[in-house]
Amino acid sequence: MSITVKGITKQYGTQKALNDISFSVDTAEVVGFLGPNGAGKSTMMKILTTYINPTEGKANVNGFDVSEDKKNVQKSVGYLPEHNPLYTDLYVKEYLRFNAGVYKVENKRIEEVIKMTGLTPEAHKKIGQLSKGYRQRVGLANALLHNPDVLILDEPTTGLDPNQLVDIRNLIRTIGKEKTVFLSTHIMQEVEAMCDRVIIINKGKIVADKKLTDLRDGQEQVVIVEFDYRVEDAFLLKLPKATKVKNTHDFVYEVTFSTTEDMRSHVFDFAHDNELKILQLNQKNASLESLFRELTN
Ligand code: ADP
Ligand code: MG
Repeated sequence: MSITVKGITKQYGTQKALNDISFSVDTAEVVGFLGPNGAGKSTMMKILTTYINPTEGKANVNGFDVSEDKKNVQKSVGYLPEHNPLYTDLYVKEYLRFNAGVYKVENKRIEEVIKMTGLTPEAHKKIGQLSKGYRQRVGLANALLHNPDVLILDEPTTGLDPNQLVDIRNLIRTIGKEKTVFLSTHIMQEVEAMCDRVIIINKGKIVADKKLTDLRDGQEQVVIVEFDYRVEDAFLLKLPKATKVKNTHDFVYEVTFSTTEDMRSHVFDFAHDNELKILQLNQKNASLESLFRELTN
């Protein structure tokens, strides 16, 4: 196990930010820690990275106790904090060199992480000149410097524009092939896009812990499609294997299909044949969404 948490409680004054939390994360798993704002995600991550101590309970990272063996825990984890404090006046390489010094990491590792995180074209710039997406890459490069086995990423995709989002998601997916990744988010779609498993937290308690494949197991699939024009529900029901159509707002429709086969290309062909323009087309994990709503409302 890369991460083991047993009965962790964190009390801030009289408030229990975490209330008897237990879970574990296996090696090379990408686990999403999903919950609304204020659920306790960052608090858990600060405990796992030794920034704060739990009030009660035990946690291990890479086999090291977070309260008793902080040095070894820090060597084992790369941490991207929620509000990643970057020095905007420093050049990318300068910043990484500074941290490499702290970790006593060889200089050639700096070039490796720059390459790994796709920073090469921006590596000569000052951090302050970078877009939010590239700043996140700097944060990720920094977290990877000492080649840790476990990455703890606190809301790594929040505040990114759609293109940056796709890039950072892919990057995290790639990193997750070799390393254990524990990432937090309050956005369900992020879990869908990056994770093997989801742990849902609400008001300091874990309310679900599920593999994404189990959530996808159902026989149904929902596709969200937006056209440039109004379409009759009955017309959309002509789509192969369509069982239900819901017009959610404007020209946006949720079409349920009785199959797990990806039906987006059929929707696309259908639109083309009927001279409709598609403005957006997405699949959604209906079970994850309803689970999240039900558990956090
Ligand atoms: P999340 O990351 O899921 O949004 P946090 O772990 O940041 O949640 O916060 C959980 C709860 O603990 C919130 O109600 C927050 O206001 C409270 N909290 C977080 N840090 C502190 C602190 N240092 N002192 C007092 N309360 C805190
Ligand atoms: Mg947070």
